[in-house]
Amino acid sequence: MKQTTSAPNGNGEAPLLNTKDETGGRTEIPFTNPATGEQFGSVLEATAEEVAKARREMGAAAAVWSAKPLQERVRILRKLQGVIVDSLDEMTVVINKDHGKSRQEALIELFMTLEKLQLYFAKAPEWLVSRRVPRGLTSILSLSRQYYTEVMPYGVVAVIGPWNYPFELVVPAVCSALLAGNTVLVKPSEVSAATGVMIENLFKRVPELSPFVRFLHGGPTVGAAIVQAQPDLIFLTGSVRTGQIVAQAAAERMIPFLCELGGKDPMIVLDDADILSAARECVWGGAAFNTGQSCVAVERVYVVKEVYDQFLDAVISEAKKQSIGYSPDTNNPYHMGPLTFERQKNIIAEHLQDAQEKGARIAYGGTIDGLFMEPTVVVDVDHTMKLMKEETFGPVIPIMKVDDELHAIQLANDSKFGLGAYVWSRNEDRAQRVAQQLQVGVVNVNDVLVNYAVPDLAFGGVKLSGNARTHGREEVMQFTQPRSWSVGPPPLPFDPLTMIRQPNRYGMIKAMTQFFFGVTAQQRLQPATEAFEESTTVRKAGIMAVTAAAAASLATLLALFRKKARQ
Ligand code: NAD
Repeated sequence: MKQTTSAPNGNGEAPLLNTKDETGGRTEIPFTNPATGEQFGSVLEATAEEVAKARREMGAAAAVWSAKPLQERVRILRKLQGVIVDSLDEMTVVINKDHGKSRQEALIELFMTLEKLQLYFAKAPEWLVSRRVPRGLTSILSLSRQYYTEVMPYGVVAVIGPWNYPFELVVPAVCSALLAGNTVLVKPSEVSAATGVMIENLFKRVPELSPFVRFLHGGPTVGAAIVQAQPDLIFLTGSVRTGQIVAQAAAERMIPFLCELGGKDPMIVLDDADILSAARECVWGGAAFNTGQSCVAVERVYVVKEVYDQFLDAVISEAKKQSIGYSPDTNNPYHMGPLTFERQKNIIAEHLQDAQEKGARIAYGGTIDGLFMEPTVVVDVDHTMKLMKEETFGPVIPIMKVDDELHAIQLANDSKFGLGAYVWSRNEDRAQRVAQQLQVGVVNVNDVLVNYAVPDLAFGGVKLSGNARTHGREEVMQFTQPRSWSVGPPPLPFDPLTMIRQPNRYGMIKAMTQFFFGVTAQQRLQPATEAFEESTTVRKAGIMAVTAAAAASLATLLALFRKKARQ
């Protein structure tokens, strides 16, 4: 299969989806529009040799990239920001075709990416700095010696991405890794392969940047080959199952592994909640936005019995308002697009069937036409059902009646996932008190998903939802590791650190230990007291004089040291 040929864009630059004429018998990944079934191109899957070669090349390039001053890296990365801003319409065309989401939702993805990049580029000089470290007690007398930690890159970072936000979940991570001085191997998802090729071509539009990033297209085999090629750090966004496989392979090779995995986010509706708002946002965040295919979508709802009927009616009434369809235009009239691919549809169907077999009832929706699915409200659910325990990742909202807030908290925490949670109450203190007890990495009170749009608010999960953080300082810093420095002239013979290197210093070290760490005056002065008691009158006078002089000198040095440390 050939990729469709596109004309150059308005700037005369190569199109974001380029033409390939030959497959050479290699595996092709088709680009498929989920809404229409149209195949609009393909990309060749990377071979194991290409992966190994890319790893070697990025290893060599890492020294060149990390040697560039931070301001220079920022300058180059800002060019990519400019290219993205210049290519918004071109990109929303590709994402819309590739994923099925509307061009408006694709644009929201680009907006969120750009806001993060802008923040990271501005803050990097503040975040990626060396930090002076106070001297330890034993080196208190070597004032000319400095101790500090600096942040250094890992080397080659592998970024393996998912399909649900194929741009926003790849580009900020790649840019953060680059900002920190790493080179990057990128494997976009095979499900959104056209977007992956598009991102590759965006990077190529910045010739100063493209030698430091290598794109490897393909599915699990390519991902596994990347892990085998021994990158210095792996950052994966994907399912728990893939996370477990990659974690195991990484552990065998002792490769540090960061992951953002699945979620099963609970929404708790308390008796004093604004029911209409809660219902509206539940449908938007659980079904409509990205057709429910978000790691932080509302995946299960617990409503206290007093307001259960009212909430259910309001959710069904909101669900009825959602229009479903696909348009390639910027002005798309639909609330919800298609599911992105067949596998997702099968998972949803399996969860619904399992729930219905165990007594659940579809209160609204349930029909699937091709990949278009109605927002689906399910009731009479319980925790024996996959629908309440496994990630469904579609426009399905299971709603469970609970006795009270404690019951809701218990059920919300009865999950292997721990990404986000939503609590609704007009009493914000009460909502926060409830949210405090939830085992999750992200909490939203009286709204859904909005936390994700805040570029400086760390995002990530606990439990099986992963160990990484995106957004803000946390995202950038996880691509660095500290290197510690001790710098100064050679030690002097009377430095404590020099003296304790000699044999027969037990008494001296013990005296220092007692002096510095004693919790009572008696403990601190014990060595002096012992020496004093064992001495003759003449020596006692000498010891008193020496002790007074030593205490005065130590006090002066400590004052000097504190003054210097404050500067
Ligand atoms: P997935 O696990 O199927 O694939 C993710 C990536 O891993 C793909 O690029 C895939 O090719 C690659 N991969 C698969 N097997 C591999 C292997 N053995 N070795 C190396 N790489 C391998 O996930 P997906 O379906 O693409 O994405 C959806 C999942 O991602 C959902 O579970 C969703 O919750 C999760 N997700 C999490 C976050 C978050 O921030 N926590 C964000 C978005 C999506």
